[in-house]
Amino acid sequence: MNLVNNNFLAITLTKKCNLRCNYCFEEANPNNDGVFQIEKVMNLIREAKSLNIRWIALSGGEPLLYPYIYELINEIAGLGLSLFIESNGIAINERFIREIKSRIWQGKVQIRISLDSNVRLNHEKDRGVNSFLPAIKSIQNLVRYGINVSVNKVYRSNDFAYKFNLKDYVEFCLQLGVNRIEISRIVPLGRAQERDKLSLEQVQYVRRLLEELKKHRKSILSNDFYMLKYSQNCSRLQKIGWGLYAYPYGFSLCPMQPEIRIGDLSSMNKIIEGNILNVFNEMRKAAFRNLPYKMIFGCSECREYFYKANKDSILKYCESF
Ligand code: SF4
Repeated sequence: MNLVNNNFLAITLTKKCNLRCNYCFEEANPNNDGVFQIEKVMNLIREAKSLNIRWIALSGGEPLLYPYIYELINEIAGLGLSLFIESNGIAINERFIREIKSRIWQGKVQIRISLDSNVRLNHEKDRGVNSFLPAIKSIQNLVRYGINVSVNKVYRSNDFAYKFNLKDYVEFCLQLGVNRIEISRIVPLGRAQERDKLSLEQVQYVRRLLEELKKHRKSILSNDFYMLKYSQNCSRLQKIGWGLYAYPYGFSLCPMQPEIRIGDLSSMNKIIEGNILNVFNEMRKAAFRNLPYKMIFGCSECREYFYKANKDSILKYCESF
């Protein structure tokens, strides 16, 4: 089997979080104590190794609040796998940095911190008070210890009200020493369901800004602002690999569609051996059956569907490139 190197297994460890962002699609909050059983997570990681999956992505909620986070880091490091952690930065402390530093070697770890703005007020508008400075401090500490750290910014309509300056944000992040800047959009599930979404004009505006910036700043990723293109199948998977998303109830191939389960926790082998691309395309067909085109290119464009864009606006969007 020819597996792409970047294939990853993403595990949603917990829906507990030390923040309660008002656009959280996982509906995470400080009181949510349910966690993914450690034995099951360990089994998944070991199986991933045996199936040649290279990256393990830990997310939540806030993965650092998972009670067995250090056991997991230990196991992942011991198996020689690469580790990606999505965090809001609040709980990143000396112990965490030391464990990462001493167990996982350079190039095999990437910590992604959520950072919505270089301006505190704008960042905290949706994430809550006292969420900005701890995130900045964590980025600085991680960078100081030579750990790869990236940031993710969620573009919101608030940004227009707050006159958010993308160029300033990018420069700010690069000065902090991050190696990658991801610009994304709200996932309209959970607490974000009722949130205002970017208008077509706003999406196009951001996209133009991004294209301009990306000419000079190669470290910017903006999957959510790619162009739409008609195509039969999702070619992104063949090009850059796939992600398998594990939840306590089973697997999904897309965090936007966690309710579309493709198997229980014992079925990882079957899903991969059964040709994950076919499974994914079947899932997309089912999700997109009411849309005016057969398929659209790239994972991120599924989002237009979930942003509840109507047929006319999707076509207008397609035609605008
Ligand atoms: S968006 Fe992230 S940081 Fe905010 S509540 Fe949800 S899991 Fe926590």
